[in-house]
Amino acid sequence: MTEHVPPVTQTSDGTGPRRQADDADVIVVGAGPAGSTTAYYLAQAGLDVLMLEKSTFPREKVCGDGLTPRGVRALVAMGISVSEQDGWVRNKGLRVIGAGKRLELPWPELSSYPGYGLVRPRTDLDQMLARRAEKAGARLLEGVTVTGPVRHDRTGRIAGVAAKQADGERTYRARVIVAADGNSSRLSVAMGLRKRDDRPLGVAVRTYYQSPRHDDDYLESWLDLWDGDRLLPGYGWIFGMGDGTSNVGLGLLNTSAAFRNTDYHALLRTWLAGMPAEWGFTEENRTQPIRGAALPMGFNRTPHYYQGLLLAGDAGGMVNPFNGEGIAYAMESGEILARTIAQALARARRTETERVLAGYPRALAEAYGGYYSVGRVFVKAIGRPELMRFATKHAMSRPALMRFALKLLANLTDPGGDASDRLVNGLSKLAPNPK
Ligand SMILES: Cc1cc2nc3c(=O)[nH]c(=O)nc-3n(C[C@H](O)[C@H](O)[C@H](O)COP(=O)(O)OP(=O)(O)OC[C@H]3O[C@@H](n4cnc5c(N)ncnc54)[C@H](O)[C@@H]3O)c2cc1C
Repeated sequence: MTEHVPPVTQTSDGTGPRRQADDADVIVVGAGPAGSTTAYYLAQAGLDVLMLEKSTFPREKVCGDGLTPRGVRALVAMGISVSEQDGWVRNKGLRVIGAGKRLELPWPELSSYPGYGLVRPRTDLDQMLARRAEKAGARLLEGVTVTGPVRHDRTGRIAGVAAKQADGERTYRARVIVAADGNSSRLSVAMGLRKRDDRPLGVAVRTYYQSPRHDDDYLESWLDLWDGDRLLPGYGWIFGMGDGTSNVGLGLLNTSAAFRNTDYHALLRTWLAGMPAEWGFTEENRTQPIRGAALPMGFNRTPHYYQGLLLAGDAGGMVNPFNGEGIAYAMESGEILARTIAQALARARRTETERVLAGYPRALAEAYGGYYSVGRVFVKAIGRPELMRFATKHAMSRPALMRFALKLLANLTDPGGDASDRLVNGLSKLAPNPK
């Protein structure tokens, strides 16, 4: 949609100071972890923020519900209490199962990250983050579906969004718009920003089972899945929810030959049929439907800033290609984004504002670019089953190597740090930033 946007004193091209007709300084589309974190930090910086969310809380989100120490750090930074009394289930590390072996790898001891992870259903987590943003001063409208951008008629720059809500259709306007509307990011697509085929993408399914394994104090990751002695494609997880159920799921990457021609629901059932009966992963114990969704990885939508629109979280394809973790990256990108916008909107001249906003992709590339480039090589390599089998067999009998692998795969190092931290950090620095 394009429409005439009322001009202001200094500018008529959609940038510059707040227009009288604006509904907020910043509009954030989507109130998942990326949107709520962005809104929280913007509100803290004193900006008037409007969040538009199509569903109403509490709402479901297909996820493994697991947080590594990276996710914990992001929650703590927002002042969220992560104590067990407040309903959080803690884990000590990652149990890896592969090549017929099992290894328990505690989360590394670091100054930058806590030594534990968490599990929490997304129905709770996302509502909690949205309420936190509201408490900081952001305004949240639920049940508002954004249907497209409102673009300035001369420059094409985004000046607002069109939305559908219970009382009909209307538009909302602001100087800066954030797309935090998840993997499909209709808003980005409508601005011409599509997913990139040269970047990794995962698809995963998950469900919940009543299980005695519900209070597991390790996140469990399966590097190979078996149907008797037949190797199945994909990787699996079992995360204890601490409420009588386990979140069980599996995923495949687009570098796998089986990516497009797999019945993911059947694959999950086949894998679970081989599990010990006492774990209870049977149809009678299943408490939810099997649901699936995509994991957009390694910056698979770019540029992250375009014509007044900034992308956070899954909308910008920020999932870690090494381990499928997306919550921490959604939150971290939201924070980087909010700090950029706060600085940009404090500049008096529109060219300066624009220069600061254009720095957001650079800040993201600095934070993750090299690491994601290494991740892309990793994803290509594990798309080859024979290579993956060799690597799993080799690594699973070397605990020290697996401890290093955990740091690399979960992106958990200290700057400086020990030799393995320096190796991971060095690899990420040496790798070229993705274009
Ligand atoms: C099966 C599966 C398992 C996963 N497991 C994990 C895990 O264990 N740990 C982990 O860290 N990550 C995991 N991930 C990844 C994680 O779920 C995502 O990376 C994360 O949710 C990204 O957050 P986000 O805020 O960017 O997007 P989302 O969480 O998708 O939030 C987007 C929000 O935008 C709203 N929205 C969308 N369109 C519109 C619109 N037009 N108008 C208004 N609102 C709109 C949606 O309703 C939603 O609330 C998993 C993903 C999958 C698919």
